[in-house]
Amino acid sequence: MRVITTIQEMVDTRGEWPVSHEVGFVATMGYLHEGHLTLARQARRENDALIASIYVNPTQFGPHEDLNTYPRDLRRDLRLLEEEGVDIAFVPTSQEIYPVGFVTYVDPTGPLAEQAEGASRPGHFRGVATVVLKLFEITRPHRAYFGQKDGQQVAVIARMVKDFNLPVQLRVLPTVREADGLAMSSRNAYLLGEDRIAARVLYRALQAGRAAFEKNPGERASLATRAMIDTVQSEPRAHLDYAEIRDPRPFLARETLAAPALLLIAASVGPARLIDNFVLHEDGTWDTGIMKGPLQ
Ligand code: AMP
Repeated sequence: MRVITTIQEMVDTRGEWPVSHEVGFVATMGYLHEGHLTLARQARRENDALIASIYVNPTQFGPHEDLNTYPRDLRRDLRLLEEEGVDIAFVPTSQEIYPVGFVTYVDPTGPLAEQAEGASRPGHFRGVATVVLKLFEITRPHRAYFGQKDGQQVAVIARMVKDFNLPVQLRVLPTVREADGLAMSSRNAYLLGEDRIAARVLYRALQAGRAAFEKNPGERASLATRAMIDTVQSEPRAHLDYAEIRDPRPFLARETLAAPALLLIAASVGPARLIDNFVLHEDGTWDTGIMKGPLQ
């Protein structure tokens, strides 16, 4: 595996590959876990070459968020990527990505970028869209792999790909969970002791929302959001940010319980702000993720 830190070297190396080479790409902020590695594994299977990036993108963090404390372990990350057969680890610095004079941003608008996660983290999706477009331009992948764990992020990126006619195929893989249901996240490193146990409440809330959904088809969506809210509020260490049911395509709140739908939840547990979601597809099947990790 080659580790590349400059855009120039990445572009030159990418340019040397044969045109017939199909290139896969996985963007990460590092501190890798099984969720990231599942994306890399799938990408390895489906492409001739594989690029993974590690870059903690400052523009997607709000001024009071965890940019400075975000967990990092580059040596371990590089070893894990190498084990997954990644060809290039692209690890740029912020001087590379946002050099002095940088002024151009991709600014997604409307409910998709401004509600739910977008309302709680103003400017977040502007930072995400900007860095992902840059990474696509630099690495020119045929296929890019993202996790359903960040469901709204995936929707924002899919919209950007469409709006800008980007020549990349998005592959979205299910949320990978610990054995007790907690969605894997680099931020889970903030969860110590009781907080780690309390963090299970997000998954339990989604399950409660799903159960209410299945019991009351066609009824008021508030029956299911109420179930989610009550579950989170039953855990004193958790503080709910939002619990919502949305129609994925216009990304508007659902009034009644009907497919397709996204059950979205965000809550803080101790120092960690966590998000999670379940997907109800049009055909009535649920995507609730896959359990992988050992029980902690
Ligand atoms: P991050 O490093 O958190 O920016 O995540 C990098 C990529 O990994 C994104 O596409 C995430 O959606 C994806 N990802 C993060 N956590 C998980 C998970 N638990 N399961 C599946 N994909 C994930």
